Amino acid sequence: MRRTERQLIDAALAVNEAGTLDEALAALASAARELVVADRVSILLWDADFAGATVVATSGAEGVSDDRIESNGPTARLVRDDTPFVVTKEHLEGVADELAARALALGTLLCVPISLKGLPTVSFQASWRLPVTEEISELAISKLRLLGRLTRVAFRTESERARAREDARLRAVIEAVPDGLVVRTNAGGALVNSAARELLAVGDDPPVEIGLRELDGTDVPPERSPLAHAVRTAEPQSYLLRVMRGDGIERVHEGRIAPVADEHGDVFATVTVFRDVTEAEKERYVTQQFLDSLFESLPTAVAITDPETWEIRRVNQSFVDLLGFDLAQTIGARPPFPWWTEDYVIPRPTPENPVIHHERLLRRSDGSLVPARLTKALVRDAEGAPAAEVVLIADLSERREFEQQLIQSGKLASIGELAAGVAHEINNPLFAILGLVEFLLLEIEPETKAHERLALIQDTALEIKEIVRALLDFARERSDERSLVSLGDVVAQTVELMRRTSAAKQVEIVERYTAEPTPIEASASQLKQIFVNLISNAKHALKDGGGTITVEVGRDGDSAWAEVRDTGPGLPEDVAARVFEPFFTTRRDLGGTGLGLSVSLGIAQAHGGSLVVDSSPGEGAAFRLRLPVTEEEVVA
Ligand code: ADP
Repeated sequence: MRRTERQLIDAALAVNEAGTLDEALAALASAARELVVADRVSILLWDADFAGATVVATSGAEGVSDDRIESNGPTARLVRDDTPFVVTKEHLEGVADELAARALALGTLLCVPISLKGLPTVSFQASWRLPVTEEISELAISKLRLLGRLTRVAFRTESERARAREDARLRAVIEAVPDGLVVRTNAGGALVNSAARELLAVGDDPPVEIGLRELDGTDVPPERSPLAHAVRTAEPQSYLLRVMRGDGIERVHEGRIAPVADEHGDVFATVTVFRDVTEAEKERYVTQQFLDSLFESLPTAVAITDPETWEIRRVNQSFVDLLGFDLAQTIGARPPFPWWTEDYVIPRPTPENPVIHHERLLRRSDGSLVPARLTKALVRDAEGAPAAEVVLIADLSERREFEQQLIQSGKLASIGELAAGVAHEINNPLFAILGLVEFLLLEIEPETKAHERLALIQDTALEIKEIVRALLDFARERSDERSLVSLGDVVAQTVELMRRTSAAKQVEIVERYTAEPTPIEASASQLKQIFVNLISNAKHALKDGGGTITVEVGRDGDSAWAEVRDTGPGLPEDVAARVFEPFFTTRRDLGGTGLGLSVSLGIAQAHGGSLVVDSSPGEGAAFRLRLPVTEEEVVA
């Protein structure tokens, strides 16, 4: 029996080491022949329905394999019933004649079926040329049954071999990937390619937990890692993180984790592909820093918005400085923006027109207005899809002011010249009239009708003389030179001029002056211009309906103020909001230029003062100029 055991163990080893199923079965056949000392042993593999069998291995003289035996006769039935038997002529009923003859020619032919759970049925056919005793054949049956168990090993190693081949193929694929690749299973197994081992500086088993940090250095706890997230959500995750390698060196890795889910959606494995982008990231960081500092230090206001919603994503310091809204009021804001002065239709850059310029009037957080030139450009991502809009805002107020000053000084110059010219032309005939009237008055009998009329002509002519004098004064005082003047005096002189030149006589101008001194350092002619504008606007507001204009001068501590108030219709809110805008006028058809108030505001600001409107519709309008007083008291 010891010999038999030895033989069985050898057989098991041979089957185990066989490279293929065929080799394993061949090893089984030869082990069987030695075990039962037969001349020949064949192994037959039976169809699942026992309609026939194929010879899958043969050992011994005249071995044949691949023979097909079609038989549904007694042999097949006995095999199906797992009954060993010595083959006789009767058993071969239904088998092809030539095959049956060959089988019987082998001598004593023993058939031992082996049917193991989960495996196809095989039968061992042992044959001896010489007749054998019943005792020997019984022994052979028991030995072959024992050996038959090894068919399981033969078949199992085949599936194992298949898996090993699969593994080898998978490993080759994984190794062929130039990026780091890690396949993790829930069971804790991991497949790591050599690129990954190198990138992570780890051995064959990667650590379960790898230290991760955001680019800004904050720790990523394991439960918030992209791997945990991919497993939890069953969604692929991309990441760009600092990774602590096995050798303690930190590198930046960019990667993607794909979860592998079963038919229930449960993730049982993950595939991570990653690479080291430390150098690229360093470069990107420097570029980013460069762009950031450029962006922040740019003297032009810049806003970066969403290309679809125009939600503000980022603005630079110049933007905050220009409009005065802080970041909390700016970032995340969407149209209509708080700095809009009206509801704009935002133009969209197009591929044909990628850069758009337009001018807008914007309102600062303190309510003041800025004319601005906006340049919009579309930024596209790598795929060409709109990624952001960049808006550059150039402050035009200085340019506008300059332009206005040019317009205004040109205008004043021509008014001055005109006034001087007209005064000169009027003066000569006027002196003639006055001289002649004086002669006539001497010649005509006093207290007659004619004398009375002549006196009236003289009064009127004197009035004309006053107007001419005022006009000449105005023309002469055109200079921008500042001197110490009294605001009250400047106002009184202007009212006087206006009163004389007033076409609408039914307008009453009421004057109120403070007893306190109102010394200011100013260009009297420029201040007069403000009051000319304010009083003539008030007159226009009163139209023909009559009414009162009140001009008042006062002083609050170290500021002096002058107010022009009328009893006209006042200003609707939307008009009040825009009256100081250059070229804004509601009287375009009546010759309005829309410059009066903006120029007046400009003069007020140039003097370090302010000009504001106070009005409610139906209650008239009041414009108030406020200027700082000068320390020195005015003496005149
Ligand atoms: P213009 O007088 O040429 O129109 P202004 O800048 O002086 O230009 O005034 C702008 C606008 O402000 C006027 O068109 C008018 O609508 C409004 N406005 C100015 N003053 C008054 C006022 N006293 N009452 C009502 N509206 C006024």
